[in-house]
Amino acid sequence: MMIIMRTDATQEDIDNIVSRVKSKQLQAHLINGEERTVIGVVGDGRPVEPDQFVRMPGVDQVTPISRPYKLASREFHPENTVIQLKGLEIGSNQIFIIGGPCAVESRAQLLDTAVKIKESGAHALRGGAFKPRTSPYSFQGMGKEGLEILAEAREMTGLPIVTEATSPDLVPMIAKYTDVIQIGARNMQNYALLQAVGKSNCPALLKRGMSATINDFLMAAEYILSKGNPNVILCERGIRTFETATRNTTDINAIPVLKSLTHLPVLLDPSHSTGHWEYVTSLARAGIAAGADGLIIEVHPNPIEALSDGAQSLKPKRFTELIEQVNAISQAMGRELAPLTSKTISPEVIQ
Ligand code: PEP
Ligand code: MN
Repeated sequence: MMIIMRTDATQEDIDNIVSRVKSKQLQAHLINGEERTVIGVVGDGRPVEPDQFVRMPGVDQVTPISRPYKLASREFHPENTVIQLKGLEIGSNQIFIIGGPCAVESRAQLLDTAVKIKESGAHALRGGAFKPRTSPYSFQGMGKEGLEILAEAREMTGLPIVTEATSPDLVPMIAKYTDVIQIGARNMQNYALLQAVGKSNCPALLKRGMSATINDFLMAAEYILSKGNPNVILCERGIRTFETATRNTTDINAIPVLKSLTHLPVLLDPSHSTGHWEYVTSLARAGIAAGADGLIIEVHPNPIEALSDGAQSLKPKRFTELIEQVNAISQAMGRELAPLTSKTISPEVIQ
């Protein structure tokens, strides 16, 4: 951190800063310029709060040098984090594709979708059991029964499952059922939820808040990492802009930006990014071409009947075509789709 003193700062002001720096077990390095003094503050790796200095007499501005997120930062962890999921990898050279409905609506709907997305070549099954809906009158999900259906689908297909936790008290129960806990856009800054997921040892799929900057997003990831859970997957899902032709605006920029700022895997959700099934495949291709490590896509066997997000859900046949196209783009990028999970039905007992 650099403390830039005002041109009229006195020697006493400078001495006061230096003693406060030292009282915090940090080191102060003075650079005496013609017009002003700059104090470089060097720590031991612990974050230093600029607020402690910014209001002291004689201070003009305080500029942090390190990024505010440490554990999430590539500066401190240059190697990619690779998350292992049932023998597959997220964040390596493999491209990982998650498919499934917005919400678990019934046993028949979910099992049908699970079998179909597996045939399409998906690597994991998504489905919300607890749905954070914008309207309190919209379908809120099947709750625990939905989790049981998801677990049954995993047993049938061998596909790992991804489902959302909407509050901290649900985390221990959801972690018993799922392979990945999703934190939705609306909860990206629910810090109690982030901490609860951080304390579990279940991989987390953290979606970007619809009005969150990349810095906010990485600080949210830092919350999970700081509680001891190293397995965080980031997911760009579109941001709010002035554009109304699509539900959100896909921030394709975020993919290469995140890949350079953090070692965490980055997925794209082209379904919520666009809100229209017609555009999902185009954005899926763009996401992989931009360097995403995978995709999460909403798929429904009968989107017209879907209880949520039908307009952006692909039918299984179109999902198969999407995967074929993404496969070609992955190869052009020198990457490859993750291998398919074995067809064998594993009678796995819920942990
Ligand atoms: C979802 O994945 O169904 C969902 C609610 O997404 P988001 O949190 O990105 O809106
Ligand atoms: Mn949805």
